[in-house]
Amino acid sequence: EPHPPRQVFVKCHCDYDPANDNLIPCKEAGLQFSSGDILQIVNQEDVNWWQARRVEGGSAGLIPSQLLEEKRKAFVKKDVDLSPADFDRHELLIYEEVAKVPPFRRKTLVLIGAPGVGRRSLKNKLLVSDPQHYGTTVPYTSRKPKSADRENMMYALTSRSKMEADIKAGLYLEHGEYDGNLYGTKNDSIHEVVEAGRICILDVNPQALKVLRTSEFLPYVVFIKAPEFEVLKAMNRSGVEAGVTKSRTDAELKRTVDESAKIQRVYGHYFDLTIVNDDLEQAYRNIKSSLEKLKGAQQWVPVGWVF
Ligand code: 5GP
Repeated sequence: EPHPPRQVFVKCHCDYDPANDNLIPCKEAGLQFSSGDILQIVNQEDVNWWQARRVEGGSAGLIPSQLLEEKRKAFVKKDVDLSPADFDRHELLIYEEVAKVPPFRRKTLVLIGAPGVGRRSLKNKLLVSDPQHYGTTVPYTSRKPKSADRENMMYALTSRSKMEADIKAGLYLEHGEYDGNLYGTKNDSIHEVVEAGRICILDVNPQALKVLRTSEFLPYVVFIKAPEFEVLKAMNRSGVEAGVTKSRTDAELKRTVDESAKIQRVYGHYFDLTIVNDDLEQAYRNIKSSLEKLKGAQQWVPVGWVF
């Protein structure tokens, strides 16, 4: 018996409008899509033009193939402020193959955002308000303890040589050097939290998303978007008055807004949820209810996650 042809579904990681495409043989035959849409690929025989339809239904239309888009993107490098590494890893992911799976538990809750948008406060809010559901890791450092006891709570202390060897062996999710000392998060620390029945909150650089979006970490990725500059400025002012935050200059606030926009442009297709943290309580409830809803819904996930 011949196998039925395998059904291929993809999640689109960019926007496409045939009306603006001067390469498409027939604009009317094209299928418009937006980043995040799920399409079924009906025919992939042509190297340049695939036939696809929306999973919600409707008729099939032409979309550019992965190869055609790669060729096109190689010509127009739009984001001049992207490092070559960012460009390689993120710009060329046009279609990601996905599969529909029954509800399942995410292992990690990944908070992404520019410095200054309040990732730390949101993480603490989740940990303090709901310790039976959320946990987090204790980072390792090679630094000598500064003031004994209190510090042993914040870091797991280790030697530089041990840490270097473990980093080389791939045991760390991420690491960095500060003031001559190494700091980093071990993969095993994440697994310990998950095995204890909690979702592990990670507050990491967006570069770590590439490693995290695997079946090992099954992440739910939340982007904490910066509010508009004027709103951020007003929040900063009232925070300072209430003694909650230190005064930040307009230039610093502007940097937060710009960095946030850049992260969204480069990594936006990886986000499961985008929220603005202009009200901590509301942001907290938003994340909780989104995770709650996920428990009862079938989900489209990267095919590599299918267990
Ligand atoms: P301190 O030694 O004063 O506690 O921290 C110094 C620096 O190490 C801080 O700027 C902090 O952001 C950084 N750091 C703390 N934990 C980690 C970590 O897990 N990974 C990385 N890359 N840096 C960290």
